[in-house]
Amino acid sequence: MSDMPAKTCLQEGTRRHLSYDAPLLTSLPGIAKRRKDLLAKLGIYTIEDLILFFPRNYEDWTTPRTILDLSDGVVETFIARIAQKPNLRRIGKMSILKTVLRDDTNAAVSCTWFNQPYLEDKIKKDEEYLFRGKIKRGGISFEITNPTFEPYIKDKSERIKPVYHLTSGLTQGFLRQLILDAFAVMNSSAKPFWINEPLSDEIRRIYKLASAKFSYEKIHNPKNKEEFEIARRRLVFEELFMIQAGLRLIKSTLARNTKSIPIITPKDKLKEFYDKLPFKLTSSQEQVIGEILPDTTKEIPMNRLVQGDVGSGKTVISAVAIASCVFNGMQATLMAPTAVLANQHFATMRKFFEGFDVSIELLTGSVTGKKKKDILERLANGDIDILIGTHAILEEPVKFKNLALAVTDEQHRFGVKQRSFLGMGNTIVPHVLVMSATPIPRTLGLILYGDLDISILKGLPHGRKPIETYTATTIDDTRIYDLMDRQIKEGRQIYIVCPMIESTEESDLTSVKELYETVASRIFPQWKVGLLHGALATKTKIAVMEDFMKGDIQVLVSTTVIEVGVDNPNASIMLIQNAERFGLAQLHQLRGRIGRGPYRSICILKSDSDADSAKERLRIICKHSDGFEIAEKDLQLRGIGDFFGTRQHGIPEMKIANLYQDVDILKETQEALNFIFKKDPLLELPENRSLIPSIKRQFGDLFDNVGI
Ligand code: ADP
Ligand code: MG
Repeated sequence: MSDMPAKTCLQEGTRRHLSYDAPLLTSLPGIAKRRKDLLAKLGIYTIEDLILFFPRNYEDWTTPRTILDLSDGVVETFIARIAQKPNLRRIGKMSILKTVLRDDTNAAVSCTWFNQPYLEDKIKKDEEYLFRGKIKRGGISFEITNPTFEPYIKDKSERIKPVYHLTSGLTQGFLRQLILDAFAVMNSSAKPFWINEPLSDEIRRIYKLASAKFSYEKIHNPKNKEEFEIARRRLVFEELFMIQAGLRLIKSTLARNTKSIPIITPKDKLKEFYDKLPFKLTSSQEQVIGEILPDTTKEIPMNRLVQGDVGSGKTVISAVAIASCVFNGMQATLMAPTAVLANQHFATMRKFFEGFDVSIELLTGSVTGKKKKDILERLANGDIDILIGTHAILEEPVKFKNLALAVTDEQHRFGVKQRSFLGMGNTIVPHVLVMSATPIPRTLGLILYGDLDISILKGLPHGRKPIETYTATTIDDTRIYDLMDRQIKEGRQIYIVCPMIESTEESDLTSVKELYETVASRIFPQWKVGLLHGALATKTKIAVMEDFMKGDIQVLVSTTVIEVGVDNPNASIMLIQNAERFGLAQLHQLRGRIGRGPYRSICILKSDSDADSAKERLRIICKHSDGFEIAEKDLQLRGIGDFFGTRQHGIPEMKIANLYQDVDILKETQEALNFIFKKDPLLELPENRSLIPSIKRQFGDLFDNVGI
């Protein structure tokens, strides 16, 4: 049963569930200060935390074998008696405890424990124990080293044992006992303090869910696989249910507590805007715009996500929404995750709005002093129509005169918290449009963006040639450089991407700086080569980007800072060094920097890694050009945690649900939630009120800012 799936989260000290009045750990036996500190390292502060500390795996002790049935090299469980008085020897610092185990088959196992001298007093000759460990067998001779064991009590010992994440200083046995003790305390207390049943009888009946009490007890100590599965199903359901309920509640609360300025779609003026665009919109772009604009005509704040693959043309969509807003005399803002991208948007928007009487400004972390003061003043009195910037806009008390629309680009860099920022404490909030190029697998999208309406931008603008993607190794260097040289001679530009800024002692990867030196002095001394990485000053970064956009730099050697949003249609080749170092979604994003113009584009994934997994991943990128398919594969290969890098998305970590396995349960939760929220969007009915503590528990402090 070691393949049982169960995830346990180890967020250190971040989950204190103050909403629940759970007793502290000190009410349990055996908890002194030292252990309390160790438990805190695992994020366990209260009995409730302990109960929610789900096993990461299980050991199956349910079907002990006879000694003669034990197999070589396998972890086995068997009942045996101590047939020989244990013998303890010491050699220097090492201790060796030896004995012989026998059972009714009369076969014998020679048993050794290293460096556990205290076990001598724990095992008694002629007593029966249940042993577990890896067997070494040759014919009918059996050996075992350092087995775990416990006294054998018929019908009680045969059980499934939980396996927990540990921290150094805590043992599996201690944690198992502690959790059993916790349940004992809870079951004995006159007023059971925690196992409130948050799910209604009706929901539990329809979806055949076990009770909370049963499930929490059994997830820790199931008698058999069936009990484990019943418990897990219930807990997965609850987890997915509460996360989505929280997002929906945020959505309906913001909708009730806040209003936006209705924007009347200025049809004639927009036509003029369309006519001046350097290209004709695709039908998919038109369709998405057709979903956005009607939303903005309402008082109900829009909260819409536009998802479209890299290069699909999201920027112009935001430009149309912004145009509709500013042509009405209202202000709009566009936020990007990096200064480089903010600068690029600033340039793009200025081009789009050329010839219109619209004032556009840029506010990033590097705008300071008088210039900044001036921008803030003109924003407040309405002289600026469009403010473009980085998160800096979020972090400061920037005052607008009449902000009606806020667009955030590359949304996955903004968490739920930031997304609802404009709603905090305000009653008039802008319509919010978020744009993401990270194609989120559908299942995940539903979880991550349950509080948003979603528009999907399909396909790429016309006339694009698909990006050809190949793998290569160091042997191919000369050919690659020849190809690049030819392309540059034809007027194209090149990206060379590298995973690291500096070289370190532990790693033999080439750093971006070393690579830049080599490329500039030895490989392409005849061309202008630029260097871009995150540690450069913002001003330098922007200057380098500008030179690259203008064509003054032919080859840009860069780290992944160019991953997000950078748009230079003249760049046609990208070489990615140590491609095995990147995630699939990331490689796809990187690759999306080329193939943005009418030229043939080539992406070369260079890797000298022999690992099969690396090769497999690179093959996926070569074979697939659709970001959604790649994202699915990436999620499969790496799991949700890695998919997003760190937990920037603001969704609580899942302790037990696995979005791959649990899609069916996810669907059930959605059906259940539709049913509840249709009738009661703010969870005000008495039967739904009881969900709120559970939701808050799931989200931690996030809800503090939403005012629920
Ligand atoms: P992304 O969705 O990755 O943000 P962009 O908005 O940067 O993509 O667009 C990618 C490129 O495609 C840009 O150079 C943009 O000018 C161009 N583009 C966008 N829409 C069209 C279109 N309808 N026809 C032709 N080119 C387009
Ligand atoms: Mg973009």
